[in-house]
Formats: sequence, structure tokens, C-alpha cells
Amino acid sequence: MSRDCHTCRHQELEAINMMLLAKRPLREVADKFELSVSSLHRHSKHLPDNLVMATRAKEVASADSVLSKIMEIDRRADEIFERAKEGNPGLALKALKELREVTSLYAKLTGELQSGTVHNTLVITPEWVSMRSLMLAALEPYPEARKALVAALGGFDIVQG
Ligand SMILES: [Zn+2]
Repeated sequence: MSRDCHTCRHQELEAINMMLLAKRPLREVADKFELSVSSLHRHSKHLPDNLVMATRAKEVASADSVLSKIMEIDRRADEIFERAKEGNPGLALKALKELREVTSLYAKLTGELQSGTVHNTLVITPEWVSMRSLMLAALEPYPEARKALVAALGGFDIVQG
């Protein structure tokens, strides 16, 4: 965010971004939110970065929900195995195979999630701190994505800059 961007500081930033994304004429957006066309124009230049971040956070969020589904399957297969191992070896074996499958899927997915975050090195600068709060603010309406972003940021190697 640029500190001198009036649009970024507008309390209806979300609605403004939506209209800009919908390619509404700047004049119309400017009139509706009492902003200047030139401010909106400047704002629209740094808009895509924020949206890319939001999209990335959503991807992480959806990977997260895949992960929780896998863990649910894992839990159920485990239950079936526990119940079947005494009286029903055939079923127990099937449950074990399912567990093996789930485990490799889980390993693959967590590996992919980590490769997305671990190799990033984060240098903390005042710009980064304000960018971070901007991203978190931008994601306010999407609690799931926001949570995922916080989680993803936890995976950065942190370097004082
Ligand atoms: Zn702006």
C-alpha cells in the first residue's frame, strides 16, 4: 500500500476494488465514493499485486481444506481397521491399504505446501510491515483466506533487513 493513496485508506476499499475489477468506469467509481479519478488511477496500478496475494492465499486455503478431508479419511480408515482387525482380516487389510494410500497422499500434499513457503526468505522492512497489514486488511472479508495467509507467512524464513 502506498501511504498517500487515498483509495487504499478509503473505508469502502473492498467495494471500490470490486468495481475496479468489474472494469467500471473510473469516473463512476470516483463519483460513488467521492474520490478523484487520478487517485483511482494511481490505485488501480497497485491493485493487481494485492489481488495476486489474495488469490495465492485462497489457493493455500483450498489446499488446507483438501488436507482436512484427507485427515478425515485417514481417521475413518483407522476406525474401520481397528474394528475389523479381530473378526474380519479381509476388511482390515483393505482399511490398511486405504491408510497407506492416504498417508502417501498426505505426504505429497504437505510436501507441496511446504515447497510453496519454506524456500521464501522474508526480509522485514517497514514496507513489508505495512504490506503485511494491508494484505491482512484486504482479506478481512475472507476469514479462511486470511487464516491461510497467516499460516503461510509463518513458513517464511525470517531475516532482519
Ligand atoms: Zn491504493
